[in-house]
Amino acid sequence: DEDNLLENDKMALIGQLAAGIAHEIRNPLTSIKGFIQLMKSEPTKNDQYLEIIDQEIDRISSITNELMIFAKPNHLKFELHDLKVILRSCITLLEGVAYQKQIRITLDSCEEPVWVFCDKQKIKQVIINLIKNALESMEDPGIITITIRKCEGQSVLSITDEGCGIPNELVEKLGQPFFTTKSNGNGLGLMMCYKIMEEHEGRIEVQSELGVGTTFYVFLPLED
Ligand code: ADP
Ligand code: MG
Repeated sequence: DEDNLLENDKMALIGQLAAGIAHEIRNPLTSIKGFIQLMKSEPTKNDQYLEIIDQEIDRISSITNELMIFAKPNHLKFELHDLKVILRSCITLLEGVAYQKQIRITLDSCEEPVWVFCDKQKIKQVIINLIKNALESMEDPGIITITIRKCEGQSVLSITDEGCGIPNELVEKLGQPFFTTKSNGNGLGLMMCYKIMEEHEGRIEVQSELGVGTTFYVFLPLED
């Protein structure tokens, strides 16, 4: 029966995904179609229309990229890595974006390496997504505090922002496909993060206070 329940959950998720994908891809397609029609009747504004078409195509490819994670679920390359090294490379990657928003990213880590058995690219994707969300939650200059330490056989990574926070009633929606509160979001980032953490036998936890900020915790089994 438990298996049946799991199957039902899976089918429900697939249904939800299918509806979401259809919706998310139909909108930009409709808009592309419309602008091509306009270009035929008003060739003088072609540059402007091409720009919009280009953006809409980007939107579709970002959705398909994120969904690829479901296409190759067993294609993980597990190796021993120092999570601190992975984390530092993610921070370096996003420092430019942070600087533009006058946001400082601070890292507070333990002295010794944090060995975990993981797929480096996938874990990078998780960390980058969480830091990006943190950056996007902050309207004003401020600090994103990142910590990494070991606790009871687990590595614990935390990312704390000074952003808008998440209303209590929306916390349970985090990770549901296509749940987004952003006009330019696709609501697939956290779903992907949760899926990757599940594949690593790790987990993600959230603590948030409206108007104060949010902390995402990432737990991974330690390998030492
Ligand atoms: P997207 O970023 O495309 O909206 P995500 O799956 O990454 O999709 O996030 C889903 C939603 O969760 C966001 O739209 C936002 O409402 C909320 N969220 C995620 N991270 C944060 C955060 N650090 N602070 C506030 N809200 C967040
Ligand atoms: Mg996101």
